[in-house]
Amino acid sequence: MKYFVLLVVAVVFIWHWRSNRRAELAARQRKVHPSPARSAGPVDMVQCAHCHLHLAVADTVAGGTGRYCSPEHRALAEN
Ligand SMILES: [Zn+2]
Repeated sequence: MKYFVLLVVAVVFIWHWRSNRRAELAARQRKVHPSPARSAGPVDMVQCAHCHLHLAVADTVAGGTGRYCSPEHRALAEN
């Protein structure tokens, strides 16, 4: 019975150590390879179909005949 208790204590100790180590490794992995929320790389640029201003696709307004820098230019070009 004494050896059984020692075995249980050893198993619990090893399990605890391994789970701590796994969490530590995951935290370290996140630090080394942080998932980019927003890429700092190149951005696709497009030209406003009305005033020909160049701007990032994410900042444009989609229209029927192209992309525009603002809803006002979309209205001017398409009406
Ligand atoms: Zn424009």
